[in-house]
Amino acid sequence: MGTARESLKSARRIVIKVGTSTLAHSDTGKLNLYRIEHLIREIADLHNAGKEIIFVSSGAIAAGMNKLGIKIKPQTIPENQALAAVGQGVLMHIYEKFFAEYGQTIGQILLTKENAADEHARQNSRNSFQALLAMGAIPVVNENDAVGVDEIRIGDNDNLSAIVAAMIDAEVLIILSDIDGLYDGNPKLDKNARLIDSVAEINSDVEKMAGGAGTKLGIGGMFTKIQAAKLATANDVTMLIVNGSTNGNLRRALNGENVGTIFPRRKLS
Ligand code: GLU
Repeated sequence: MGTARESLKSARRIVIKVGTSTLAHSDTGKLNLYRIEHLIREIADLHNAGKEIIFVSSGAIAAGMNKLGIKIKPQTIPENQALAAVGQGVLMHIYEKFFAEYGQTIGQILLTKENAADEHARQNSRNSFQALLAMGAIPVVNENDAVGVDEIRIGDNDNLSAIVAAMIDAEVLIILSDIDGLYDGNPKLDKNARLIDSVAEINSDVEKMAGGAGTKLGIGGMFTKIQAAKLATANDVTMLIVNGSTNGNLRRALNGENVGTIFPRRKLS
């Protein structure tokens, strides 16, 4: 699979997705500023190196819970909408501050399923991304949870990031996770579980490896990452799952080094 890893070096348009479990401390649920700052510095540097970066970030609901001192995630949709409304602003404030420190301009794009539903809607969303990128800004994307109800929700940002990557013809989607990649067993329970370097075909064996899972803060787990990989590779986007807690992993992955699990786009597999 040398070619697929090798091809990452020349990738120009890259979607990077980060989940709540990477952005927040697992024990307190509060934002992990150390990690966020390192991540943003890496993204800013990739941008300086001439890459177009689209940053998909979860964490709105967690940030809202934090701000309002709510410890247990409420069950109702309106309460979660309200938390996202509060938290999305908090999140953007932090991103604005850190990205500005490294001289970068960001622009927020909030999407729902409706924005990708038909060709006309997709085209309108795509135009917005293109214009932002052409201005040299970094789009920061999340689901529009403040208005999202079940019918218009994508539900998890793994799938959302794959939809975005396909919509804007990105070459690569990197999903930052709280583990090193896809394992052939559950690494939390099985010491012999091995990290899989590359997945050429997403079949039922691969789906079985992904299991269910998800932490109390994030909702993604490995299963939605495999769904995202299916969508991405079918749309000619190479996807990687990489550990977001290790500083430098983004750079290493895009340098073609063997980090995480790669799902090469069809033409490369
Ligand atoms: N969009 C939600 C948020 O920002 C979370 C979705 C996800 O974690 O995949 O809180």
